[in-house]
Amino acid sequence: MPIPLQKLFTYRITEAEADFIKIGTRVAVPFGKSKIYTAIVYEMHLEEPKAYEAKEIYQILDESPIVTAIQLKQWQWIASYYMCSLGDVLRAALPKAFLLESETLVLKNPEFEEEATLTDEEFLIWEALEHQPKLKIQDIGKILDRKGVLSVVHSLLSKEAIEVKEEIYEQYKPKYVKYVQLHKNYQTEESLHTLLDDLSRAPKQREIMLCFFQLKHGSDEPVALQDLIKKSNTTSGIVQALVKKEVFELLQVREDRVSFDTDIRPIHELNEPQLKALAQIKAVFEQKEVCLLHGVTSSGKTEIYSHLISQTLEQGKQVLYLLPEIALTTHIINRLQQFYGDKISVFHSRYSVDERVEVWNNLVSQSDKAQIVLGARSSVLLPFSNLGLVIVDEEHETSFKQFEPSPRYHARDTAIMLGYLHGANVLLGSATPSVETFYNAKQSKYGYVKLETRYGNVQLPEIELVDIKEKHRKKRMTGHFSDRLLGLMEEALSDKEQVILFQNRRGFAPVVECSTCGVAPQCPNCDVSLTFHKFNNELRCHYCGHQQALPKTCPACENPTLDTKGFGTEQIELELKELFPEAKVARMDLDTTRGKYGYQKLLRSFHDHEIDILVGTQMLTKGLDFKNVSLVGVLNADNLLNFPDFRAHERTYQLMVQVSGRAGRDQKRGKVAIQSFNPYHQILQQVTIHDYEAMYQDQMNERHQFSYPPLIRLVRIVLKHKDFIKVDTAANWMGKSLVNSFGDQVLGPTSPSIGRIRNKYIKSILIKLPTNISLKQSKDQIQRIKDSFMAIPDFRAVQVIVDVDCY
Ligand code: ADP
Ligand code: ZN
Repeated sequence: MPIPLQKLFTYRITEAEADFIKIGTRVAVPFGKSKIYTAIVYEMHLEEPKAYEAKEIYQILDESPIVTAIQLKQWQWIASYYMCSLGDVLRAALPKAFLLESETLVLKNPEFEEEATLTDEEFLIWEALEHQPKLKIQDIGKILDRKGVLSVVHSLLSKEAIEVKEEIYEQYKPKYVKYVQLHKNYQTEESLHTLLDDLSRAPKQREIMLCFFQLKHGSDEPVALQDLIKKSNTTSGIVQALVKKEVFELLQVREDRVSFDTDIRPIHELNEPQLKALAQIKAVFEQKEVCLLHGVTSSGKTEIYSHLISQTLEQGKQVLYLLPEIALTTHIINRLQQFYGDKISVFHSRYSVDERVEVWNNLVSQSDKAQIVLGARSSVLLPFSNLGLVIVDEEHETSFKQFEPSPRYHARDTAIMLGYLHGANVLLGSATPSVETFYNAKQSKYGYVKLETRYGNVQLPEIELVDIKEKHRKKRMTGHFSDRLLGLMEEALSDKEQVILFQNRRGFAPVVECSTCGVAPQCPNCDVSLTFHKFNNELRCHYCGHQQALPKTCPACENPTLDTKGFGTEQIELELKELFPEAKVARMDLDTTRGKYGYQKLLRSFHDHEIDILVGTQMLTKGLDFKNVSLVGVLNADNLLNFPDFRAHERTYQLMVQVSGRAGRDQKRGKVAIQSFNPYHQILQQVTIHDYEAMYQDQMNERHQFSYPPLIRLVRIVLKHKDFIKVDTAANWMGKSLVNSFGDQVLGPTSPSIGRIRNKYIKSILIKLPTNISLKQSKDQIQRIKDSFMAIPDFRAVQVIVDVDCY
């Protein structure tokens, strides 16, 4: 059942139904007083439940399973490992359209026109939607005057007459690219000659035509509008004029669907070091399931993946390619689509319902279209039937872990389990592996292959640390820039090269503070200071989204002395505009990329060198591959290092190395300047000499000393309630019970640094589980404590979240 309960429920079926129903199919079942749910058949048995009378099912919804046997095993593993319900996993895995329930809202598809194909009952519903914009499944039951209506709704869905409403996600809208092709009036040589003659009186248009033919190069493919505009040095207005004249036609093609048949290219030949790495990986797979590919940035890991993918496809098996963030990695999708065209399905939780259902069905039916699935975290939950290879690219990325809502799974670890269930190979790739993965490789649990040279023997960038404490003392700072960084930037810009600047925070000044009384305006719902956004003069909470205008006076002392402090990407952008008035500056962070195509637009302009300096946050690190960037500047490495988390140092190393990797990816050696108040910090020293091993050793020493993963397992229990006293009492009770079982391995309860979010107070307890004691036993014990906790009437309203591997 798609509900957060630990149990499976038993329903009564007839013998005839038993013959028909298969495990993994959907059935509509009654639940509670009046609810109807879509449930998945988990098993069929002959034992009557003792505690309740088994109800009859309403309806069988599928003829054949939509969930595979391996998936059910995987879900069971996730539920037990991450201490959540099977229902949570089911909800996370199945596209919403598969899970109609009494509360689902049904809407009309305004574009549907084939009313003639509807059955009488379907037509009744369709007609009802003419009068009422939304119907609940329950309402449909009333209209048809019967209960089992889900199959009618499903049929309407499959005819695309209706849509079901999904509110949780903002839908991901893929980018469209405009292409130009000749209007069909000009298919013959003769008509073309006449055209060119006619155009002799319009030289600009004639030139565009000539450029068009040059770009086309005799092929049948259309030409990208951008390329044409650039090549002929014109504006889209003039091209539009030719469209009006019916000389050109414009095509809109979805960027992730751009695959003209002739476009498929053979994969690249590997160079010597890559060939060696590939051979080593294959040797590892003879003996082990999991292999770590530790390859420096730009060593060509993606090319190696392609070879493994091709070999897996030759064996007739499926490939899952996991990426940290689909929206940020369209360039990888494009690259792979060049090699594999239609065989790739891209899966994204923010895709529309239809697209997700399409991928799901393609996989279940083992269609050719779903031989390679490229997706972020949630694609690890798809119904693979014959998986041969899993690639986890950028395996160290934090976005593989789901924090909210349950199931709080880690996609990399879940992928390893998935590989195990299918007997498939799993390749983890990174230039900066997570400490836990490297540890597993050292322990020989995973195989290990290293690739140390960049493709084309491009050198790793030269990294320089700039001591800004010293610079401040000597008055050599202009705003947030040292004279050294400014010098390097001038050099790069005068050589017509591009610059990337990395700043960890977004917003103009994270904190606004009153210079008279020292008070900073707080979010009314959360215990955090509001962040100042200069462009609209607004204060915002980055936790709950609360926003308000910047007050003219301090809310505490009422003096007009609210002062902006600290700095973020927006401030840097402003400073740059003053320092380099000639340069084109842009900013990339959550605020500027929120819009539909924000991110892609920025990337394209940067790629086309319409931007000289790009300032951005973490987003910049996601494997962008730009040829013309010669300098990367990090404005302040300290706020990363000082972040209160046991992984702060590891993360700083990863981030610094990944941003550095954006510099000098072509022939010239790139340059990186990292500004810090603390340039002698071990981690920064290790970054400059690319010494991953030393970083790893230091981190492991600390984790030994303070007992942190991967040497122990970390489980976090979080309690939330509106009433502070209540959550405090509850947390103390929970803490004591845990101490009884786990002794001094329990830390807390403590209030996290932000003690209240969305009006709820938070308490958190950490449990360190030693790896030498059965994990299963420990978790069972935690579960028992949680169950007794929930049985206490006073605590029932307290929200309890259990997060396994909560880092
Ligand atoms: P990584 O994923 O390790 O950062 P990429 O696979 O993105 O590296 O490779 C970096 C660049 O080098 C890409 O532009 C890629 O096309 C190119 N490249 C790498 N290996 C080859 C190869 N064997 N043949 C042609 N180009 C390659
Ligand atoms: Zn808030």
